Amino acid sequence: RDALRKFLRRNLFVLFTVAAVALGVILGFALRTRNLSLREVKYFAFPGELLMRMLQMLVLPLIVSSLVTGISSLDSKASGKMGIRAVVYYMVTTLIAVFIGIVIVIIIRPGKGSRDSPLHKTGSIEQVQATDAFLDLIRNMFPPNLVEACFKQYKTMYKKTLRTRNITVALNLTETFNITESSPSANVSQLFQTIQEAVEETVPVSGSSGGVNALGLVVFSMCFGLVIGNMKQQGQPLRDFFDCLNEAIMRLVAIIIWYAPVGIMFLIAGKIVEMKNLAEVGGQLGMYTISVIIGLLIHGLFVLPLLFFAVTRRNPFSFIGGLLQALITAFGTSSSSATLPITFRCLEENNRVDKRVTRFVLPVGATINMDGTALYEAVAAIFIAQVNDMDLNFGQILTISITATAASIGAAGIPQAGLVTMVIVLTSVGLPTEDITLIIAVDWFLDRLRTTTNVLGDSLGAGIVEHLSRDELQHHDPDMHNSVIEV
Ligand code: ASP
Repeated sequence: RDALRKFLRRNLFVLFTVAAVALGVILGFALRTRNLSLREVKYFAFPGELLMRMLQMLVLPLIVSSLVTGISSLDSKASGKMGIRAVVYYMVTTLIAVFIGIVIVIIIRPGKGSRDSPLHKTGSIEQVQATDAFLDLIRNMFPPNLVEACFKQYKTMYKKTLRTRNITVALNLTETFNITESSPSANVSQLFQTIQEAVEETVPVSGSSGGVNALGLVVFSMCFGLVIGNMKQQGQPLRDFFDCLNEAIMRLVAIIIWYAPVGIMFLIAGKIVEMKNLAEVGGQLGMYTISVIIGLLIHGLFVLPLLFFAVTRRNPFSFIGGLLQALITAFGTSSSSATLPITFRCLEENNRVDKRVTRFVLPVGATINMDGTALYEAVAAIFIAQVNDMDLNFGQILTISITATAASIGAAGIPQAGLVTMVIVLTSVGLPTEDITLIIAVDWFLDRLRTTTNVLGDSLGAGIVEHLSRDELQHHDPDMHNSVIEV
């Protein structure tokens, strides 16, 4: 009986959550037959929206407080080593994910073949230059205003303008066009052409869009944690403050977790009511969806667990069992940053991962480590190339691997962020960016799956980094090791 009670206590929330998913699916399909209006669907899914908001509410203070305490509680040498291990893990697993995606899409060739299922473009997409998107990634690492970073990230906007250089050209026309008395007409028409080109030119101007600049906050919090960690005694008040803040946020998480199953049920049911008929997604788009799913399954259920086992010698599937609630939340919310509070809780309480590791690696992982997104970006880009009958050479495939990795780092942990950063990958090999609209129809579903893979990658990474860092961890303040928060 004791064993049963213990099992129930440990797995109660998981059972609730699994039951919630099942109920959500049943409820969703039952209501689909009723032809609800969009407004009614929104009302119906309201409890789910509330869960999403509650989780998002905690993300900011959680990222900052966990990173600052996580890093400042280690000495800089230990955190440096841990950081390097985490980054190596992130890079290796992301590249493996991209590789799997590329192999699968090349074998299955979803974009080739019969043209009996014409692909429909839906919606429109903003054009972005690959270089500007790269620069935005770096810009976002250094937010000039921390408060603004809590609700805005930088994004290049484009403006049609007459460039100054060309005006100068126009003024110095005699010099530039070498106008002489003998050859006026040719040069004047050349001048007109230049002015026309200048008028049509678009230039990047600085801009910002909504959404938390998580990357900027992560970079700032890491540096801040490092600095107050080095301040020894003098830094103690700040360390205590962030430690206490972190503890308080985790207590809020422990409350929200009671509501999570309800929210997840409505999130899933609402989406099922709202979604278009999946049976209609046949042909090329269907094969594309299957390719992404196969890739994600191989990466999430085979490669990552194998790597986890190879490094830690622990059973990866019992570790994944402890993560079930986070994985389901990731599927329900399509957002690895909204899932972050639950990921923390699962890792610390169910899997007993050292808090100094989770605090350090989880916020960074949720922001930059996105295996699922990287895999999907590579598959999507090659799929679009196949649809356009464009044969990619080895160099172009290599470019796609690198840009897909960068695009996954640059994608925020919010719903469908990966779809937006796709433009980096497409422009890098000269594919038409408006073709992103071909895959929008199935993206909401693939987004959920890749977000789940992203969270899985972050969590197994925390287990691996903990194992590799056990020497450093032993030398530090042992009372940081897991105190269970009960509410
Ligand atoms: N929704 C994903 C996440 O939060 C990002 C993406 O769109 O790929 O992890």
